[in-house]
Amino acid sequence: MAKRIDGKEISSAMLDKVALEVAALKEKHIEPCLAVILVGDNPASQVYVRNKQRACERVGIRSVSHILPAETTQAALLDLIDTLNRDETVHGILCQLPLPEHLDSEQVLLAIAPEKDVDAFHPVNVGKITIGNADLLPCTPAGVMEMLRYEGISPAGKHCVVLGRSNIVGKPMALLLLAANGTVTVCHSKTPDLAAMTRQADILVSAVGRRGLITADMVKPGAVVIDVSINRDENGKLCGDADYDAVSVVASAITPVPGGVGPMTIAMLMRNTVTAAKAQNGIN
Ligand code: NAP
Repeated sequence: MAKRIDGKEISSAMLDKVALEVAALKEKHIEPCLAVILVGDNPASQVYVRNKQRACERVGIRSVSHILPAETTQAALLDLIDTLNRDETVHGILCQLPLPEHLDSEQVLLAIAPEKDVDAFHPVNVGKITIGNADLLPCTPAGVMEMLRYEGISPAGKHCVVLGRSNIVGKPMALLLLAANGTVTVCHSKTPDLAAMTRQADILVSAVGRRGLITADMVKPGAVVIDVSINRDENGKLCGDADYDAVSVVASAITPVPGGVGPMTIAMLMRNTVTAAKAQNGIN
């Protein structure tokens, strides 16, 4: 039976470490600060923003929320970002996605100063991740790497198969596994025989967003399965891509949904905010 990789436990340990770093910075009169921008009233986004504020409170990071109406113009949003970019008391800026349709997300993400881009979505940070010298790492894939490290699972020399190639999860996940010396295969919607790929995985990371996609027969015995996806089952309950109970019989370790990768993402955001605050104050 697979070991259940407990994201709540691992993220809690990380948040404790971040809280110590925040306390040390405050002794130097530096108060890490995260500005969160939320445009409109998407209920899921509201929950994410609230969870981020709670995490900030827990570790002692000052959080400033800018809740803007759905009809906010692109110019007004860019103005706000410009103000936050120039505000020396703000170290991290996060604009919660998705934005209302009339807004150009790409332009918004480009407007955030790379050193304050705690989501690591700016092309400058994406480039740094690609060449392997990033300070700010994309929160979800970095959270996965932290889980593997905590569990003593090294990607080095392993075949890592990533399902999904989004800019937020799949692509940066593949880059981080590659940087950790994994041999990486990336699959997507045009991959002809998905099961043939997944069966070769020592570490299988799924970020597709399709419930029931990964069945037990698609998993190599002893593989580590990291389920990034957040789906809902027919009863509205949260679930991942993997059939958790069946895959648990085959895998050596597996992350649950909820309580797996999700909590790690927020912990990494807190860590990035502290990293940004340190860098902006000349501390390594
Ligand atoms: P996305 O942008 O929709 O990307 C999904 C990817 O899956 C695409 O690359 C797509 O391929 C691929 N795909 C679709 N059908 C497939 C199939 N049958 N076989 C193989 N690949 C297939 O989603 P995302 O933003 O990366 O998020 C993925 C999941 O992770 C979602 O459930 C999301 O809610 C979750 N998520 C969780 C966290 C967290 O903190 N735990 C954070 C972010 C996202 P194409 O490129 O060819 O279309």
